[in-house]
Amino acid sequence: MKVVLPDSSELELPDGASGLDAARAIGPKLAEQAVLVRVNGATRDLRLPLADGERIQILTTRDTQDEDALYVLRHSAAHLLAEAAMRLHPGVKIAIGPPIADGFYYDFEFPEPITEEDLSAIEEEMRREIAEGRAWKREEIPRDEAVQRFLSEDQPYKVELAREADEPISLYTQGDFTDLCRGPHLQDASPIEALQLTGIAGAYWRGDEKLTQLTRIYGTAFYSQADLDAHLERLEQARARDHRRLGPQLDLFHFDEHSPGSPLWHPKGMVIYNQLEAVRRRENARRGYLEVKTPLLYDKALWITSGHWEKFREDMFLIPGDTDDQVYGIKPMNCPGHMLLFGSQLRSYRDLPIRYAEAAPLHRNELTGTLHGLTRVRYVTQDDSHIFCTEEQATGEVDGVIDYVRYLYGVFGVEPHAELSTRPDSRFGTDEQWDKAEAALQEALERHGIRYAVAEGEGVFYGPKIDLHMTDVLRRSWQMGTIQYDMQMPARFGLTYMGPDNAEHMPIVIHRALYGSFERFIAILIEHYAGDFPFWLAPVQARVLPVGETHQEPARALRDRLDAEGFRADVDERDETLGKRIRDAELEKIPFVVVYGDRESEDALAVRERGGGQSTLSLDAVLETFRALAAEADPS
Ligand SMILES: [Zn+2]
Ligand SMILES: [Zn+2]
Repeated sequence: MKVVLPDSSELELPDGASGLDAARAIGPKLAEQAVLVRVNGATRDLRLPLADGERIQILTTRDTQDEDALYVLRHSAAHLLAEAAMRLHPGVKIAIGPPIADGFYYDFEFPEPITEEDLSAIEEEMRREIAEGRAWKREEIPRDEAVQRFLSEDQPYKVELAREADEPISLYTQGDFTDLCRGPHLQDASPIEALQLTGIAGAYWRGDEKLTQLTRIYGTAFYSQADLDAHLERLEQARARDHRRLGPQLDLFHFDEHSPGSPLWHPKGMVIYNQLEAVRRRENARRGYLEVKTPLLYDKALWITSGHWEKFREDMFLIPGDTDDQVYGIKPMNCPGHMLLFGSQLRSYRDLPIRYAEAAPLHRNELTGTLHGLTRVRYVTQDDSHIFCTEEQATGEVDGVIDYVRYLYGVFGVEPHAELSTRPDSRFGTDEQWDKAEAALQEALERHGIRYAVAEGEGVFYGPKIDLHMTDVLRRSWQMGTIQYDMQMPARFGLTYMGPDNAEHMPIVIHRALYGSFERFIAILIEHYAGDFPFWLAPVQARVLPVGETHQEPARALRDRLDAEGFRADVDERDETLGKRIRDAELEKIPFVVVYGDRESEDALAVRERGGGQSTLSLDAVLETFRALAAEADPS
């Protein structure tokens, strides 16, 4: 048989040859360094046979940044973890141990509870295993045999998994430890040059809180110590930027146990919020969106029409209605209200497109365990919009939305990238409609030069969608807005417009939120800027520090002047040393500090720039600088 190599050359191999055989045929060095084979884009264990005509790529210990190569390394490290835990904690029951983004974990039921302090001994044991040498052996056995084996080892979770696994069931053995596992795995443990156990957490068996609570041990592994060090450094930076810490520290918001997942915005946080709102309103007005306001509560009948009662009820907060059998749902989305608005009048093709915009509070009953700062909340405010248009107009409308995306993310100096999700197996609408819808989204992305990946079959049943992402300064990818093409909801609401042919047609609806939500977007901004907001977003833009008591009057006058010019300034008159007040202003990350003493006047102000030096400027020069920085809010 022949397989195809990445450079398109063909490699002749005996029938049934494995990935490792292919590596050997290319060269002994490659075989020694091989960790995994990618076959037609999917990963496969090196020990498994290849088939004629397959396109293969051998991954080695040199592919240190490759996601798949890291996965197989970390998955193998997870098996070492289980082996170590069983040796140090006899009687431990082992559950599952997959690789995850940035590392791996293994879930255990320990006979005695363990703490973080126990991790270093387990980690030492893993290092000992690696030093001693561990190679993985793969075998396939019938289900009954696997069940019997784990019954005899008194491993109930493995028994349960073996009973459900598809045959053939594969086992991987290293040393005297055998795990039920689909693989793939390394040949041996020597490529695991750096590893660390990073923490423990509780986790329910199968993620079900009615089942046993297990102990999850997290860890990570790399092909080199330098990579692990860089990773730890990034984690440290991420911790320092964590919006859940910085938000309260910068006096922007906090959470209270009386309303889980619902931020309480402080005055300074509201400044940022309102700046984003001002950008939203300004751009919506420029781009022909119409601001509307629709109810927060609707009765069950509306949610049945919209489909939410069937698909989304678990995530909705329900409250009793006026009569015993009536119930209201608090809106988790704005769409139904906008459908009612459109349907409230006779519409002609001449009225289209209609672009409704609304940034209303929405509530979603997320499980308390999944809440996470501002990125996963129960009270969420989308910068929402629904565009009603004809099928012919849809391409142009999507194009307009993508143009908006380019502009909006540009305000924050962020380069968006996108994921285009196409038709799923179970869907509404004809193939011809899907062709048009997908083409509209794809063409717009290409025309505006936005980098995108295609997620085949990941679209929603009512239409394809685009998810917008940004990569922050720590190279983390965040999902922000979405654009969805909808051929379903207008039908459920029986929406029509009168066409030029005097017949009724169904409009297309484009749902789009570009920040995504204010809450999530602000979380991303806090972490992206590490709290050093650009001048136009900063809650306090300038602080005036009077040197002594006699300087308080002119300092206040200066603040009033900056205020009158539309800037956010304050005065720190506290009875603290000048040095202390300057440091506090730095901690609050205020962009400009003006020190006012005997030598200062409107012609000569001592101005300190955040993270920069000090200069002497006239008030006019200061105002000019401020105006230029404030204009960054609108780069058009
Ligand atoms: Zn495994
Ligand atoms: Zn919607």
